[in-house]
Amino acid sequence: MYNFKMPMTDTASPLKKLEQLEFSLDSVTDLSSSPPASPSSPAVATFSCVDGVTELRFLQPDSTHCFTFDLASAQLFKLGTVQFICVSDDNSEERSFSKGVNIKFGSEKDSKEFCDSFEEWRKDALVPGSSIVSASNSKFDEKIEASSAKMYFHYYGQLLHQQNMLQDYVRTGTYYAAVMENRSDFAGRVVVDVGAGSGILSMFAAQAGAKHVYAVEASEMAEYARKLIAGNPLFADRITVIKGKVEDIELPEKADILISEPMGTLLVNERMLESYVIARDRFMSPNGKMFPTVGRIHMAPFSDEFLFIEMANKALFWQQQNYYGVDLTPLFGSAHQGYFSQPVVDAFDPRLLVAPLMFHTIDFTQMKEEDFYEIDIPLKFTSSVCTRVHGLACWFDVLFDGSTVQRWLTTAPGAPTTHWYQIRCVLAQPIYVMAGQEITGRLHLIAHSAQSYTIDLTLSAKMWGPGASQGGILQSSTGKFDLKEPYYRMSQPQAYPAAQEPPLPPQPQLNPQDIQIQSDDFEEELLQEPAQNAIWLRFHRDAYWRSANTVNGLGLSGGENGGYEGTAFRRDGKRSPTGLRSSAIPSVMASPPSPRKKGTKTTNATTTASMIPCGVDPPPPPTTP
Ligand code: SAH
Repeated sequence: MYNFKMPMTDTASPLKKLEQLEFSLDSVTDLSSSPPASPSSPAVATFSCVDGVTELRFLQPDSTHCFTFDLASAQLFKLGTVQFICVSDDNSEERSFSKGVNIKFGSEKDSKEFCDSFEEWRKDALVPGSSIVSASNSKFDEKIEASSAKMYFHYYGQLLHQQNMLQDYVRTGTYYAAVMENRSDFAGRVVVDVGAGSGILSMFAAQAGAKHVYAVEASEMAEYARKLIAGNPLFADRITVIKGKVEDIELPEKADILISEPMGTLLVNERMLESYVIARDRFMSPNGKMFPTVGRIHMAPFSDEFLFIEMANKALFWQQQNYYGVDLTPLFGSAHQGYFSQPVVDAFDPRLLVAPLMFHTIDFTQMKEEDFYEIDIPLKFTSSVCTRVHGLACWFDVLFDGSTVQRWLTTAPGAPTTHWYQIRCVLAQPIYVMAGQEITGRLHLIAHSAQSYTIDLTLSAKMWGPGASQGGILQSSTGKFDLKEPYYRMSQPQAYPAAQEPPLPPQPQLNPQDIQIQSDDFEEELLQEPAQNAIWLRFHRDAYWRSANTVNGLGLSGGENGGYEGTAFRRDGKRSPTGLRSSAIPSVMASPPSPRKKGTKTTNATTTASMIPCGVDPPPPPTTP
């Protein structure tokens, strides 16, 4: 599974070793000639790879005519033991028809060898998830399963998923601020946008005065990015969209600065940081800059009885001994283990953390691609309270180390929620700690070929108290998690009990302006509404808040008072739907401020909302009576 361990640069693909392969044929006949041409004299079939395009050519030595097939689209049909038809799109015209030849071999052996070679060369001609043809000595293809890559780029090829990221205003607003506050890093510079998606960061760079931006995007989103950029004439002539993987494409010049948003859950999920550092080595000039520059994985042990019981309860289904006459218990153990192997993704209350955090720094300017294959983090915490520890909570932040301003984008609990939320690895066996007690352990991340990581977590503490021998009894709990299979535990809009819920009156769609106008009196109005209307209003207001994503449109599941009622609205009306503001975060949770650079200003993401260009720092949602 971990084929990424193979030495990639030295492993030549068959294509690399063999740039050309020839077969003798008895005859080759053009299928499009009418009337059908009589079989030609002996010919030669040649597989070759020219400029990354894998081709099959049929050449008759006594003629200058040559039939060329692009192997990415060619197909072979067997007519008999020694006879085939080879067809493909005709790229030379408008692809309105196909071209084909009938080929015949002298022996079954030749015919079989040709057939096998055709399959091999064809495989190498196909790059999953894109129409790009490559010689397949790509670092990406060698370490990532084709099926994973196909799904991955299919996902990012859809506008709705790009919209989801664009609507994370903490994320996009922080990028915008980081670029605009550091114009001098972009003005007159050559920029590469690594994984450009919709092209948004390229357009930020262009707005900051970039001389030229190369927007590299591997998915079909590249076409949408072209369209979007073309519709913004202020930047269009300074941005070139290049469809392909950063591992494969070539650029005409070196870049002064790379910009990218390669972060996944726990920072490293999706394994795109590897592409980011590959792009650095391939395209960045020696003193170039990287935006973001550094990332940090933050970790702290947490205690959350609600979550633990919720997870343990899920497997109880398999405790039934008479499920329509079937005993389900043989699978209880596996189901239980399965639930506890899923990292939990949600926004939790930072007060669930039981010790000051620690962090692991990843410097994008220094990391080698191989450094991401295995990340080993020794853990050491001191518990602040006497409690049961249920596992390890993790989140990340990244730094844009600009020449003018250093800006952090944080995904910390208690900070405005982002689409990354936070992640928690819950141990099937909690450990008991006293205040002041040391918790040690290890977080071991091992990359796998499905663009994610296997996580091994160990937490240990020495048990004190009566019965424990001198020095304490060591309690140790371990868990194995697959970062690719998380349990998304975000809150959903609250369902109202059917009995109380009146049929909704037909209402025109509310739009943001309507809400803005009403918003000042809204709370009062709502309080005066009869209950049924209040429900209706709340329902629609909720929908509006979510769709407009005014406070990042994200729910909070780690409730105040330990509640997990799963609503985005707080009944006390004091807090925003995204939960606690950073001012309310206990000091152990807050990201330490970045070291301030001489003569530069340091800001953090919590101030971002007011800097968002669309000016959306929305009014708080209404409280319910
Ligand atoms: N920059 C955009 C999109 C970020 S999502 C934004 O900030 O909104 C990451 C994007 O990188 C996806 O669109 C994905 O298709 C692309 N991507 C991931 N790996 C890539 C690679 N190796 N080469 C090129 N594009 C890649």
